[in-house]
Order: sequence, then C-alpha cells, then structure tokens
Amino acid sequence: MRGVRAALALVLLAAAPARVEGGGPLVVTTSTDLAALVAVVGGDRVQVESLAAPLQDPHALEVKPGQLARLKAAALLVRIGLDHEPWLARVLRTLGDPRFAPGSPHDLDTSRGIELLQAETPRVRGEGAVHVHGFGNTHYWLDPENARPMTAAILEALARLAPGERAHFEASRARFLAALDAGLARWTAAMAPHRGTRVAVVHESWPYFARRFGLVVVAAVEPTPGVPPSPAYLATLTGRMREAGVRLLVAEPYSSASLVGQVAARSGARIVTLIPSVGGDPDARDYLALFELNVRRLTEALR
Ligand SMILES: [Zn+2]
Repeated sequence: MRGVRAALALVLLAAAPARVEGGGPLVVTTSTDLAALVAVVGGDRVQVESLAAPLQDPHALEVKPGQLARLKAAALLVRIGLDHEPWLARVLRTLGDPRFAPGSPHDLDTSRGIELLQAETPRVRGEGAVHVHGFGNTHYWLDPENARPMTAAILEALARLAPGERAHFEASRARFLAALDAGLARWTAAMAPHRGTRVAVVHESWPYFARRFGLVVVAAVEPTPGVPPSPAYLATLTGRMREAGVRLLVAEPYSSASLVGQVAARSGARIVTLIPSVGGDPDARDYLALFELNVRRLTEALR
C-alpha cells in the first residue's frame, strides 16, 4: 500500500504544474451525472471531467494516478456527498490538497439542500463490511426535480470561481430548467398509466425516481445496500415478490447477470435494466436523455 502511495505521489509531482488547455476552470466531478449538470450550467466557460465512468459502481471506485493529477489541477470538486463515495476520503488523503477540504469554496457537496429519502436507515458499518446509504439514500440525482437545487448549487460554485460569467451561467441554467420542465411533463404523462406498479430493485438506486413517477419499490435484492444476498435471503425474497405481485425487477448494467436471472426466474418478475448514470448507454448522452431512456424502457417493459 505504501508503495502504491509513493508511486501516486511521484505521478502527482510530475503532473502538478501542467496547465489545463483551453479556456475556463477545470471542474472534476465524482460522477458523470454531476459532470452533465456542471456542463449545462457552465457551457463552454468551464471544462468538466468525471472520476467515475458511467458504468462503474459509484460506491466502489479505483481512482487512477492520471485522474489524481487531474483532480490536483482542478479548481472545483463536485461530489454527491453523504457516504456515496467511500473511496474519496482515501483519494483526498493521497492528494493532500487543503483546497478540497469539506466546506472549502473548491469543494461542492450537492446533497446539501436535497430532501433525502431513507435517512432513517441505521448506520451500521462493520470493519471490512461494505455499507453505503448510511446517512440516507444517495441516488438523489435520479429524481429530475432534484436537478433544480443541484444546478443552483453548481451555479453558485461556478460563479465564485468565475464571477464575470455569472450572467452566462444563469442564462444557461434557465434554458436547462425550461427543457427539464418540458421533460418532466412528458415523462410524468408517459408513466401515469403505470402509477402504483410494484417493482423490486437489485440495488436501492431508485427510490427518488420511483417516488417521482409513481412506482412502488417493495423489495431490494441486496438486503443492505452494497451487500450481496445470502441464498436464504434470496429464497425469502423471491417468495415475497410473488406474493406482492411484483411485475418488474429493476437491474443496473453492472448488476450480476446470474443473480438477476435467478431472482427473475424464481419470482416471475420481468427484468428491466435501467441506466443509473449519464453515458451508461449511448442514448443516455446527457441528463435529460437519461430520463427519456429510462422512462421509455419502463413503459416498454410494462406494455
Ligand atoms: Zn447506492
């Protein structure tokens, strides 16, 4: 471990003086969704990069030395916060840059100002055990309404970095919100006939999305977020899914295909793979397209 840290430090030293090409400050985000929201506010006045690729498990990321160098060069780090990024504390320790200390103007935690779901979940994290969502469910970007407070916070953070561009950021955000409103009207109408549909999920990524569009999440394949199910739990789960009349099993592209197939076969639920992050499918090329695609997949699966 110490050897790895030393190697990272060397890479950082080599890369630290590198200037960011092009105009505008560099913003590094932990996820592609945050990068997409920074892009809609910042437009061509900022550069933005995500540490996580769209199909990586956002809770379990291995940050590469080259990405650490980009973070070192960044003017702003934007993150989901809570315990969504358990890997980030180690990355920031390795980086040792006080600019990214929580609460600094170079650090933006977009969970502030979000009304969290499942915040009553007891925080139990044993040594070596993977447990996330200990402070509330962290997948809040999957309610498109939450893009309002998230882009408001991004606008303020960008305007602190580039005060002269505030009017530009405000106009860009206003255009985005108009498109968001049109999208919300379309998606809500498409999902209206399916309100009350009972679904099971693999990982608890979808409570915000489900609340917005009227789906009822009755079970999760992971007994605790981030923890794979035991055979005994699976047997009980699939029985409960049958009893509850669960029609759909919502999987993610990185869910275990054998696990998903097994739960679907034993419960009788149909599998639908939803895309949890921008870029996770060629059709989910930006934040609005992500919802367009997921609503289409759901309405096709429920037809
Ligand atoms: Zn999660």
